[in-house]
Amino acid sequence: MRTPIVAGNWKMNLGRREALELGRAIAEGAPTQGVTAIVAPVALHLAALGEALASAPVLLASQNAHWAESGAYTGELAGPMLREVGVRYVILGHSERRQYFGESDEGVNRKTRAMLAQGLRPIVCFGESLEEREAGQTQAKVEFQVRAALAGVGAEDAKDVVLAYEPIWAIGTGKTASPEQAQEVHGFLRGVLEDLYDRATAQAMPILYGGSVKPSNFAELIGQPDIDGGLVGGASLKAESFLELCRIAV
Ligand code: 13P
Repeated sequence: MRTPIVAGNWKMNLGRREALELGRAIAEGAPTQGVTAIVAPVALHLAALGEALASAPVLLASQNAHWAESGAYTGELAGPMLREVGVRYVILGHSERRQYFGESDEGVNRKTRAMLAQGLRPIVCFGESLEEREAGQTQAKVEFQVRAALAGVGAEDAKDVVLAYEPIWAIGTGKTASPEQAQEVHGFLRGVLEDLYDRATAQAMPILYGGSVKPSNFAELIGQPDIDGGLVGGASLKAESFLELCRIAV
């Protein structure tokens, strides 16, 4: 029903040569069906990877984009320009962007709507901090963030949105949410989506888990009914572990 997704967020890593090497190795080894493999290199290498991956079963994502199609926005990247070099997905609202670059819920919503209008698929990230989890605020936080991101997005467009639950305390820490903890949030969100849209739309929307995903914990995570794949940082920087994650997802 929902094709599993394994998306590698390379963050601000890998020079041009390493990025191309990794991209080519992934292109050669990625399963040709049963999983959607996505890589998100730094913006600087998107065009080169767009060419290298042109006929490969690996799709390209940007780690960010501006909402405008062009204009006086120094340092930013526009959706149409990303599409031109082969980008299909755009990661939005990653906790690192929220924390270090002032990305707000309003901004994420504006970008989500803009990407959809420009023919790109948003990968919308959200998740609670350790403090919020311990205070019992996990569901309230993720529901708020997801509703904010999807405000004004109709059911037809919503089917092109990928959601990514990334508990902040699990990112880059080696501490993964347990499969039960993650499923609890994903299942809850499926209900929120059903309330927001309808059952068919909620069932069609992929919800990825992110936060210290690696080959040793991925099978159990993706085995949960509402976990549709992974958004992967560290383990996506090596072809071997990224490809292993792709094989596990199939
Ligand atoms: P790690 O897999 O390194 O914990 O990073 C997760 C992440 O932030 C993916 O976007």
